Amino acid sequence: MNLEQALKDHFGYETFRTGQKQIIEQVLAGKDTLGILPTGAGKSICYQLPALLLDGLTLVISPLISLMKDQVDSLNIEGIPATYINSTVNEFETQIRLNQVASGEIKLLFIAPERFEISSFNQFLKRLPIALVAVDEAHCISQWGHDFRPSYVEFAKHLSDLPTHPTLLALTATATPAVSADIQKLLEIPVDQTVQTGFLRENLRFEVVKGQDKRAFLKKYLKQHTDQSGIIYASTRKEVEQLCEALIKAKIKATMYHAGLSEKERQENQEAFLFDERPIMVATNAFGMGINKSNVRFVIHYAIPSTMEAYYQEAGRAGRDGLPSDAILFYSPNDARLRAYFIEQSESDQRHKANEYDKLRQMQAYANCETCLQRFILQYFGDDGEDCHKCQNCLDERDQQDITIDTQKVLSCVIRMKERFGKTTVAQVLVGSKSKGLANWNFDQLSTYGIMKGTSQKSISELIDFLTAENYLKISTGKFPLLSVSQKGTKVLRSELNVFRKSTLIKTVSSKENS
Ligand code: ADP
Repeated sequence: MNLEQALKDHFGYETFRTGQKQIIEQVLAGKDTLGILPTGAGKSICYQLPALLLDGLTLVISPLISLMKDQVDSLNIEGIPATYINSTVNEFETQIRLNQVASGEIKLLFIAPERFEISSFNQFLKRLPIALVAVDEAHCISQWGHDFRPSYVEFAKHLSDLPTHPTLLALTATATPAVSADIQKLLEIPVDQTVQTGFLRENLRFEVVKGQDKRAFLKKYLKQHTDQSGIIYASTRKEVEQLCEALIKAKIKATMYHAGLSEKERQENQEAFLFDERPIMVATNAFGMGINKSNVRFVIHYAIPSTMEAYYQEAGRAGRDGLPSDAILFYSPNDARLRAYFIEQSESDQRHKANEYDKLRQMQAYANCETCLQRFILQYFGDDGEDCHKCQNCLDERDQQDITIDTQKVLSCVIRMKERFGKTTVAQVLVGSKSKGLANWNFDQLSTYGIMKGTSQKSISELIDFLTAENYLKISTGKFPLLSVSQKGTKVLRSELNVFRKSTLIKTVSSKENS
């Protein structure tokens, strides 16, 4: 079969994008497949084209109920018979749709994983000629992912009951090696049937903005990028509202989206954004999944997201058309503390919380590193590549300073404190703080006590963040992260490795600040 011709006939595209053809060929050959392709790479075609070429029904499982209508509508416009059933469809209409499915009129049926909990639906599925089950957002099955849904684990158990033994295609944009392994295990997909195209998005330019007035920076950036479309992610509904209002006051065509708005408002605002009447969208992370706006030129995170997965997925909504686009993260330690507070307040058990703290720490490491930002992300996802030569860190022309001696001071202090304390206490010991707690531990007797006197405690904390981000220090998981020296750090202590950094330590004029 000529797949290119089929692609052209059904979807009007001339060529496949990287990964698509291999996935489709595997699926058509009846091989269960895991496809890991970055956001915007074109995952939908990977099940839509096989759905049209295979005899029988394709079941698409997706957690995104709010998007099913749009997905189905756009398939119907292409003349592809698709429908969906979820909690927004009433019983009468559901019955009509099930009848259409049973009669073979429908090629693609979209459902949410919870549907498998209804036993009459399970019985119904068993009578259908299901050829393919496509699992969208497959990372939701993994406890180590950033969006775990217990219903995903549950439905997986029902798949083996289907008498037609359909082929399984799991798709995701964000899978660390641990998450991929989980998907492979839980869905029983052989490792060698995984297709991964790499996480590189060549047209994105990454930047981290620290220690600046966020609002002023934002307004200036937006004034410099008038007529461009962009998304600004804020962390709370209140912040979204305040920010959107401030931008509108500054005559910027902004609109907003968060889960607290009415269905009607969300719909209207989304459309105003999609059709460029209001090209700037200020939103919480409730916005964006499945939004297919190709000309988004920048994604700005007004505050740090909780995981690298979430960050890359959201940032990846910029530049789907392949043109140069910006991904900018505003970072302040206060925002990270707010995120940590959210984790603490959540109802997850201790093991999950430790995992979430860990992910947040990786996100902070991204914000504090001085190496190529694109490469940092690739390495996080178990990939690697060359430096991008266009992110903020690659273009930072400040001279690097040799900070080996300061690093040795920090690392030896961590060791003298038996690697049982966190950043704040280590920094206090280094500046020689008079805080009572230190004397209780006899830390004022350590040879490293006060050896960085005259440097502000804040800059030492930032230095520790840098050393953590660059892997000289390790941080234990959990609520109270403890610092320890990594193998790389040990080399520095033995003077086998020098450390360079672009930012310099800020010396305090008086030592008052540190007392
Ligand atoms: P993902 O789900 O991976 O984020 P989508 O499936 O939504 O991405 O596809 C992103 C965009 O790319 C859509 O506009 C889609 O129509 C388009 N697209 C997909 N495959 C191709 C292709 N082979 N050639 C051109 N455009 C494509």
